[in-house]
Amino acid sequence: MTDRIADIWGERTPHGSGQAWPERVDQVLAEGLTDGDVDRWVQSACVLCSNGCGCDIAVKDGKLVGIRGRAQDRVNRGRLGPKGLYGSWQGEEHPDRLTRPLIRVDGRLVETDWDTAMGRIVERSKELLASKGPLSHGFYTSGQLFLEEYYALGMLGKAGIGTPHMDGNTRLCTATAAAALKESFGADGQPGSYTDIDECSAIFLYGHNMAETQTVLWSRVLDRLDGPNPPRLVCIDPRDTEVARRADVHLPVHPGTNLALMNGLVRELFANGWIDEDYIAEHTANVDQLRSVVEPWTPEKVAETCGVQAADVRRAAEIFGTEDRVLSTVLQGFYQSAHATASACQVDNLHLLRGMLGRPGCGLLQMNGQPTAQNNRECGADGDLPGFRNWENPQHVQDLARLWNVDPGIIPDWAPPTHALQIFRYVEQGSIELLWISATNPAVSMPQLERIRHILDQDSLFLVVQDIYLTETAQYADVVLPCAAWGEKTGTFTNADRTVHLSEKAVDPPGEARSDLDVFLEYARWMGFTDKDGRPLLDWSGPEDGFEAWKECSRGRPCDYTGLSYNKLRGGSGIQWPCTEGLPDGTERLYTDGGFPTAPEYCESFGHDLLTGATTGETEYKATVQPGKAWLKALDYTPPHEEPDADYPLRYTTGRTAYHFHTRTKTGRSRRLNDAAPEPWIEMSVEDAARAGCQEGDIARVTSRRGSLEVPVRVGDIRPGTVFAPFHYGYWDTSDGDTSDGGPHRAANELTITEWDPVSKQPLFKNAAVRVEKLRSGDGPSKAPDTTASRRATGAQR
Ligand code: SF4
Repeated sequence: MTDRIADIWGERTPHGSGQAWPERVDQVLAEGLTDGDVDRWVQSACVLCSNGCGCDIAVKDGKLVGIRGRAQDRVNRGRLGPKGLYGSWQGEEHPDRLTRPLIRVDGRLVETDWDTAMGRIVERSKELLASKGPLSHGFYTSGQLFLEEYYALGMLGKAGIGTPHMDGNTRLCTATAAAALKESFGADGQPGSYTDIDECSAIFLYGHNMAETQTVLWSRVLDRLDGPNPPRLVCIDPRDTEVARRADVHLPVHPGTNLALMNGLVRELFANGWIDEDYIAEHTANVDQLRSVVEPWTPEKVAETCGVQAADVRRAAEIFGTEDRVLSTVLQGFYQSAHATASACQVDNLHLLRGMLGRPGCGLLQMNGQPTAQNNRECGADGDLPGFRNWENPQHVQDLARLWNVDPGIIPDWAPPTHALQIFRYVEQGSIELLWISATNPAVSMPQLERIRHILDQDSLFLVVQDIYLTETAQYADVVLPCAAWGEKTGTFTNADRTVHLSEKAVDPPGEARSDLDVFLEYARWMGFTDKDGRPLLDWSGPEDGFEAWKECSRGRPCDYTGLSYNKLRGGSGIQWPCTEGLPDGTERLYTDGGFPTAPEYCESFGHDLLTGATTGETEYKATVQPGKAWLKALDYTPPHEEPDADYPLRYTTGRTAYHFHTRTKTGRSRRLNDAAPEPWIEMSVEDAARAGCQEGDIARVTSRRGSLEVPVRVGDIRPGTVFAPFHYGYWDTSDGDTSDGGPHRAANELTITEWDPVSKQPLFKNAAVRVEKLRSGDGPSKAPDTTASRRATGAQR
């Protein structure tokens, strides 16, 4: 195997259209070890992005010592990327791991035992429930727990406490995917499959730097691009990413203008007759409104608004309109930007207008960012009702109450689930007094960090944090619970193309750390949550019980798991849901017959107004949507809230690098990954850097209306007028590890804005205005990676 830090995507194994992707097994073992030294290999899947690559974990003497891709797995056919190879196991074998619970005494966190820590939580929880009721409790979880853990959390929140205040950091990464799928098709669930890469004749990547966010998926694309009959490639991204460099058409739109572009692409389909009239008539509703909304968006108007060439808009539209098998993938460039849901819905619309769904190569992947985000959404840990049930449908609430044997009145269905930023607002206002954060780090990942620090620090809040390290967030906690990591517990999770994997426990967690599932079950037991007959609400003895319980919850719903079991998931490949008695091998693609889950009694949502986010309501929904037909939804473009001006002349956008995951909790502790990208930077174009008097490596101050950063400059191939910052870097590995002082700051989210998409409620991390000033000369080039989109300027950008 090549050095996979330098060679991120590994050796090419080209394949042509319709051919199976060849196997290539990637493996890393601890220095000095060979295969013969490994005691055993334990089946799992990687949890460092949404790709969900099947893998086996190497164990020696009770320790994680390496990893190998699973050749038989449909997702990766043996491959792993840099994060999987170096971050998964190395990131956990670190002396910083939390091994005992901590409680705050006289302002300091001190070690204690589990009973004392849980006793404190339960005492406060009972006190608040008795005095202030369920709205005093909020839960903020992750996209990195296992399915069984989310389902336990969803149950205890909805049927134990009865609070609507529950969300995951999936709100920050994948909420728009769920929202757009619900708006267009009636329910969440990716229509496409990764094998569509092997079959397609064109690929569109919308705000999706796949080359860095899902490196193994990009290897699959590279193998098509280097094989016979390569697909044509269209990239929408303001940066000159690896994807852009391989694209036939690159549309480097101004951040915040995606919807204008999408309206223009849809208009071109209508204008040129590149639509499937029969499919539209049989399988969709609302085409006339869509046509009238996009009508003004000529390529020239798009060009002027988005800062791209009209000819490129036409070329991109022609590719979508004339190729017979187009795959679309969408990610944060759309989801975290203005008009997120409306823009993502226009991607759905492109496929619907051409009748390109449910056929090989015609995939639609509204991607996820995190490995288990899909399960969070399925199980209701993001506030939705489990099993893609509709909180506005009383029958769905009754179903759950029957399943759980609880009074339906306890299930919070009187209002939409409270989204993450609103949960933090309620803490700020003082109505939520117990906030329980699991496996996520809002002190680095939320927008407008100074405000988030104040919220986490306020006296009225009792903060519980469960994690594997003492994160920036955990430093504010009243109680810290040490948890087991991947490889130290068993459970299942589902990737972005609905593939379910089983991850088995390979080693014991360090010290007294426990699985997140054990923590939730223990809390439910201490709280005495019971069903109507007085039996424990969560009487599972372990994760397999949780999985079996979940199967019943999913029965008959779009995400039906009833044909799966732990045994079935052992030994071979992951399997795509729905998997039932009638579909024992799972389901490669959804909507093969052009039928959609939009019937009012079955759908997950009655939809929203894309401009305001107001719910459509059952009456209007029934009047608009014909059961079984998809809904062509559209919105006109309006400029984003914070545009550049004389004081803040540059557009600011945040994103990822191939070498880190989220706030570096694990990848920052992997030596190989951290060496590859050890410190933050900002990227500026040659022109903007010159205007600010900056050269490569100089230290600059970047200021928005909410704060400032002091970081090195990378003069790169980003479109002029736009500044990029990786969002991974916080403060735990700075010299004082301090998150609360007045700076200098380095976390990208010091500058981002507290604003969200009206439908998905996803924060807008890609729309802020900033100015950049040189602070001092650097002592050499910045340490931004030269192997990725952050490489030094080549002059490729216009
Ligand atoms: S592509 Fe994602 S899931 Fe696969 S090895 Fe890399 S980080 Fe892990």
